[in-house]
Amino acid sequence: MLLESHAPMEEHPLRLTDIPKPVPKVGEVLLRVSTCGICHTDLHIIEGEVKPPSLPLVVGHQVVGEVEKIGEGVENRKLGERVGVPWLYSTCGRCSFCQRGEENLCEDIRFTGCHENGGLTEYMVAPAEFVYPIPRIFSDIQAAPLLCAGIIGYRALRISEIKKGEVLGLFGFGASAHIAIQVAMHWDTEVFVFTRSENHRDLARELGAAWVGGAEDPPPKELDRAIIFAPAGYLIPLALKNIRKGGTLALAGIYMDRVPEMPYDLIYGERKLVSVANSTREDAIGLLEAAAEIPILTEVEAFRLEEANEAYLRLKRSEIKGAGVIVL
Ligand SMILES: [Zn+2]
Ligand SMILES: [Zn+2]
Repeated sequence: MLLESHAPMEEHPLRLTDIPKPVPKVGEVLLRVSTCGICHTDLHIIEGEVKPPSLPLVVGHQVVGEVEKIGEGVENRKLGERVGVPWLYSTCGRCSFCQRGEENLCEDIRFTGCHENGGLTEYMVAPAEFVYPIPRIFSDIQAAPLLCAGIIGYRALRISEIKKGEVLGLFGFGASAHIAIQVAMHWDTEVFVFTRSENHRDLARELGAAWVGGAEDPPPKELDRAIIFAPAGYLIPLALKNIRKGGTLALAGIYMDRVPEMPYDLIYGERKLVSVANSTREDAIGLLEAAAEIPILTEVEAFRLEEANEAYLRLKRSEIKGAGVIVL
């Protein structure tokens, strides 16, 4: 599925076409793709709010596949091994951020399905150092949403500094939040979910949310930490209003519309407002380990490759319960 020019999802901008099978270069592996999760970031790329360096492009950055060929110099991967490719495609390893262990902020960071072709295709290449073995307990379909939704949710939880016994608020309850809630509950926290969609409210209750309401509804208790998953800046003051002094509000989206002007009172009292940018290899490994241990159940709706436009449109309309996955 190829994106040739940006357009609203309603115009079905992805086109099914043949592209040459890529050849793995030094340090890369060739994967035969089996599944690829769909993500809001893809929507922003397709519609042009997040601009990839060039088009045409294959989007998709939650890729599960089998290693079919190994490039020169690759020692950490085996033929036939099942691996996952997340949003983080590669980092430079040399800049000050990489050297500090903050590779998610790398000056020359590259993203899957943005700087390089992603997974809505039969074959893709990826650097061997940036793909991860998928724990055996997950099917290809169930594993796909772990690779962005899961990893970003996991990083957002870490950045929020949520601790055992605390109350966590989740604003928006799509693919990422439905995984994050399972990790948060495993860490013995109480989770309140703020979302409009009835589908999403049902899923939040099924997964054990202690309270479910709308963003404007007062929760039964003050929040220690909160994470906003929706790309909507107007949620920031609504969330801050419910957070205790010294608490944290993490913004998990790569894209957010305007941050509104707000009274200083909302953030005074040493409340912290922090964005979550991308992820590190450590986050990927941490999430996959936690996912297998808990174990995380991903709620998944599967689509065929030919249905990708329809799948993204349903995602845009919040009609997908849990995560959408394209099966090759
Ligand atoms: Zn770097
Ligand atoms: Zn994503």
